[in-house]
Amino acid sequence: MIPRTVFSSDHEIFRDSVRKFFETEAVPFHAQWEEDGQVSRELWRKAGEQGLLCAPIPEADGGLGADFLYSAVVIEEAARLGLSGVGFSLHSDIAVPYIQRYGSAAQKQKYIPKCTSGEIVTAIAMTEPGTGSDLQSVKTTAVLDGDEYVINGSKTFITNGQMADLVIVVAKTDPKGGAKGTSLFLVEAGTPGFTKGQNLHKVGMKAQDTSELFFQDVRVPKENLLGQPGMGFIYLMQELPQERLSVAVGAIANAEAALKWTLDYTRERKAFGRSVFDFQNTRFKLAEIATELQIARVFVDRCLELHMNKKLDVPTAAMAKYWCTDLQCKVLDECVQLHGGYGYMWEYPVARAWADARVQRIYAGTNEIMKEIISRSL
Ligand SMILES: Cc1cc2nc3c(=O)[nH]c(=O)nc-3n(C[C@H](O)[C@H](O)[C@H](O)COP(=O)(O)OP(=O)(O)OC[C@H]3O[C@@H](n4cnc5c(N)ncnc54)[C@H](O)[C@@H]3O)c2cc1C
Repeated sequence: MIPRTVFSSDHEIFRDSVRKFFETEAVPFHAQWEEDGQVSRELWRKAGEQGLLCAPIPEADGGLGADFLYSAVVIEEAARLGLSGVGFSLHSDIAVPYIQRYGSAAQKQKYIPKCTSGEIVTAIAMTEPGTGSDLQSVKTTAVLDGDEYVINGSKTFITNGQMADLVIVVAKTDPKGGAKGTSLFLVEAGTPGFTKGQNLHKVGMKAQDTSELFFQDVRVPKENLLGQPGMGFIYLMQELPQERLSVAVGAIANAEAALKWTLDYTRERKAFGRSVFDFQNTRFKLAEIATELQIARVFVDRCLELHMNKKLDVPTAAMAKYWCTDLQCKVLDECVQLHGGYGYMWEYPVARAWADARVQRIYAGTNEIMKEIISRSL
């Protein structure tokens, strides 16, 4: 196997502690969280204490001042254990970076240290009932009225939606301005007029709270604008490669775990007097999966290296997201097949992972949108 070279020994030491943390603090409770539709608040606080949140955010801004590879470790270890309810990456690698990059000194000071400690859980609300891929068409508005913006609209499918204390809301400050009329706002839970809808019933990722959010005449001080008015769309485009890389990293780690579960299972399971692994079909399928995952791993690690050097471009991040999540779904499907009927039973990690994986091709920009992005660069 091609050795991984992207992580240092410090990252690997961190990996051990992350794995132990998840094994003791998350794995035993995940089935209950699936029933509850969300993880516990305590998990967030403990993760904050252990240094699992906001790793790549500079210390001066209230983060841990580590690098993105520490986040990649957290993503990989959660994915390997099938902890799809843990929304840390959305928080640390997607939402909080907006505050760090575009927020004022006062916004950073107010929110980021609490995001790092796990006291504040964040979400980012782009998608609306009427529009997802076509972000320029969001209908939520933010109208300046004196010293306040008045926000009206609704969002859906928002990760961490039930638990979120702070939401980055994408809204139009100039509804006729298209992309140039889009701005980002920080809206705190509890602000009058801001309500959380139902925790949505999903096919997988059952311990992840994914919600509708409603904004009715929500008044926020104009200081809650994130960055400059009208720059929201540009900010989103700048930050999406990290989100897409994060999804690719999780996809491959999860598929690698599925390969391992399937190797273990097929070696144990007997049919026609031998182990299922001994059938040539099984061995060939597993050989194909191992090969494709090795190819993906090398590609994703190279993307990580590029990202560390600020050289990961938008089309390459889109390639990683689309190709790795397609591969993840293909691998999971083969792994379920090799488990036979047990692969369809919820108590088997491979069944859960199969259900969890499907959305990876849909969120963070659908894989069709990824192909649009790639094709525009050709
Ligand atoms: C579990 C989950 C978590 C999510 N978390 C968040 C979150 O935290 N924050 C957030 O804002 N959103 C989130 N989303 C929303 C997600 O990003 C959107 O669902 C996604 O972007 C697709 O938008 P849509 O559902 O409106 O589908 P549509 O945009 O209506 O797409 C429907 C189909 O048309 C295709 N299509 C659309 N446009 C084109 C085109 N130009 N060319 C080719 N095909 C096209 C799509 O690929 C898709 O197959 C989440 C969704 C889910 C399911």
